[in-house]
Amino acid sequence: MLQIKDLHKSYAIGDSSLHVLKGVNLAVNTGEMVAIMGSSGSGKSTLLNIIGMLDEADSGSYVLDGLAIENLTEKKAAVYRNKFLGFIFQSFNLINYKNAIENVALPLYYQGVKRKERLELAKFHLKKVGLEKWSEHLPKELSGGQKQRVAIARALAANPKLLLADEPTGALDTKTSHEIMDFIQHLNDEGKTILMVTHEEDIASMCKRIIRLRDGVIIEDKEVKQVRASQYV
Ligand code: ADP
Ligand code: MG
Repeated sequence: MLQIKDLHKSYAIGDSSLHVLKGVNLAVNTGEMVAIMGSSGSGKSTLLNIIGMLDEADSGSYVLDGLAIENLTEKKAAVYRNKFLGFIFQSFNLINYKNAIENVALPLYYQGVKRKERLELAKFHLKKVGLEKWSEHLPKELSGGQKQRVAIARALAANPKLLLADEPTGALDTKTSHEIMDFIQHLNDEGKTILMVTHEEDIASMCKRIIRLRDGVIIEDKEVKQVRASQYV
């Protein structure tokens, strides 16, 4: 699914530069469910953003689904992003003035899917996350857990090969976090590849593999026995 070799990334800060990723090596196969852990500032989001083609590395190689990701134009990057990747964020990133179904349908609009088909697909995915009755509601009328489920439906709408999540439970209480993790585990059971950033051990233990970043390098990468979230919900 993806191969990363000797990835480096620095940020310019005034006259100096901050070396955030210092030679990251990583391969992820189809069907994996991986947690990326590390303390705040260790480079987790930077790595996920590069994997998600939202940012570019300074050096090293990144191959996604057999395609070398480098020197892509913004337009090409957007095409691959829409085709291969779905994103879930801590703060949901829904569009406030669009209702649930319109939020879910939005990525399909960028893919050029016609309006009728967009809304049908969006409805299908909202149903999948148990929110078909909430399709006309605006984000402000939804709970945190419901908002994240809309965001998951949106991430899935275009049937991405890889789902990327940056602290998907970071803004949710424990019970809601476990409900969201239960849902994400079911997606993985169905074969979706998932890469998730978290700094919570209990959330990471619900993945199948845990990678630890410290000071820009991977210090640990191990398979774990997956804790099922369903036992808590
Ligand atoms: P994490 O997600 O593990 O908390 P990040 O990848 O967000 O860490 O950030 C790693 C380091 O890079 C932090 O010190 C952060 O302040 C810095 N950083 C992140 N993004 C930028 C940016 N766009 N410009 C400058 N510094 C940044
Ligand atoms: Mg982060």
